[in-house]
Parts: sequence; structure tokens; C-alpha cells
Amino acid sequence: MIIDCHIHCGLGNSELLTESGITYKNTVETMIQLVKIYKQKGIQALRDGGDVSGVGIILRAISKDSGLIYRTPIRAFYKKGLYGDFLGEHLENTKDGIRKMDALMKETPDFIKIILTGIMSFNEYGVSGAIGLSQGECTAIIDHAHQSGLSVMVHANSPKGIMMALTSGADTIEHGYGIDDDCLHAMRESNVVWVPTLAPFANIAKCSDENPMKKYRKVSERYFRQHQQQVKKANAMGVNIALGSDSGATLVAHGQGTLDELGYLLDCGLTEEKLESIGKRVIDF
Ligand SMILES: [Zn+2]
Repeated sequence: MIIDCHIHCGLGNSELLTESGITYKNTVETMIQLVKIYKQKGIQALRDGGDVSGVGIILRAISKDSGLIYRTPIRAFYKKGLYGDFLGEHLENTKDGIRKMDALMKETPDFIKIILTGIMSFNEYGVSGAIGLSQGECTAIIDHAHQSGLSVMVHANSPKGIMMALTSGADTIEHGYGIDDDCLHAMRESNVVWVPTLAPFANIAKCSDENPMKKYRKVSERYFRQHQQQVKKANAMGVNIALGSDSGATLVAHGQGTLDELGYLLDCGLTEEKLESIGKRVIDF
């Protein structure tokens, strides 16, 4: 059983979902296509990372009778003014975050997604976008989700961001670029699941000369190699690692992206059995 624990069903599709004049009908048709694509590739379960349109809820409804298991946070939360506007709704502080989370819960998300940091810079190797929450804010928001019976997926890069997510009670850490030994140990101790999403940088690193992302090949190769080392180390240490492709991101196509990520993880020494068992745990969260 192949389980992809990090995709964005609202991203990377035809322009249907981002052009003005989109209709409910063509959105539904796009989601029906996605279900078909994933099933054709032999992928049985997906966990969405959310997007501003909140279309995950439509895909979840469609997938009900299809045999594809689908979990969605609907929309992610990010700090006002920082990275994440295309992934969900912003929060200004703890109080605002809790109020918006309560409102979101009426739409029945399967879990909560928080974007704690930015992404890794293409221009300055190793630099991640700012951390959006204080430790206190992050803990309070995660606690509130837990008290409401929902687990929390946290997008975090850089040692400081990852450590804050871990010590605030995150259930899974997404991306985790720049992860260091302290974070790996803390992850193992807390039994948190790491979803390293190797595919975005790996796929940019190997893109063709005709691709506009070509200018980022070198830096992407560097991120990929570094991350691969850490995934190997984490796996040898006994950290829980899940497959998450970030499909919908640039050069990570729905369906194929999952198989790409699977290949990258197998190269790091993971096994399909192990990925399935951790994936099941994540999906059942
Ligand atoms: Zn993502």
C-alpha cells in the first residue's frame, strides 16, 4: 500500500483552480481527475497539506466512494505577512489563531496544519524564511488542536524552527530542511513522524535545459544531497519517516511525484513496508 502523507490537491493542476471565473463544476471535474490519476498509479491513501481554496474538502467528498483514503486540513494557518498565503489563512496571534481554528473546525478538517517557517532560499543556500510564531504561541495553538481531538502537521525548516515545532507538541514535521543532530534525537525521543519531502528539490535538480527552473538546479542538488544524508542518518537512528512528496509543488506532478518520492526514500535505505506502516499511523492520526 502506497500512502502519500503530503500533497496539495489544490496546486499543480490545470489553471482551473487559480484562474478567475472558476466554477464549482470544473473544480469538481479536476478533483475527479486527480482521484483517477492517483488510483492509476497504485496510490491508496493521501494526506493533503491544504491550500487557500480549501478544495481538499471537495476531493475528500469525491474520494469517499472511490476507495482512495483522503485526509485534509482544508486550509493551513500561517503567520500574517510571512510565507503561506496560497496555502490557507493567516493568524495574527494566539487568540486570533484559536478563533480561526474553531471556525475551521465547523468545516470538519481531519487535522490541523500550521506553517511555522518559510521555505529554503534558492538564492542563499541554507537560509530558511522566518519563524512565524513564538514558542508560547506555537504551543498554545497546538494544544488547542489536541484538546479538540485533532493532530497537528507542522511545516518547519531550520534547526530552530524544527526544534520549536518538536517542543511545542507537533505530531508530524514536514520538510525539515536543515535538520541537525539535536533535532533528530528529539524526534526519536518524542516519536514524532518526519515527512522530509525530498521530491521538490530532487526534481528541480534533474530538470531539463528547457525548464525555467534550470537556474536553480545547482542549489537544489545541494539541498537534495544534504537532506538525503540526514534522512539516511535518521532512518539508521530509528526516527519515524513517512513518504510525503509535496505533489502540486513545482515539478512534482500529481501521481508521479509520489512514485518519485518513494524512489528517493528507498535510495536512502527505507523500505516499502516501513513507509506503509508509518503512513498508516499518520493517516489514522
Ligand atoms: Zn506542502
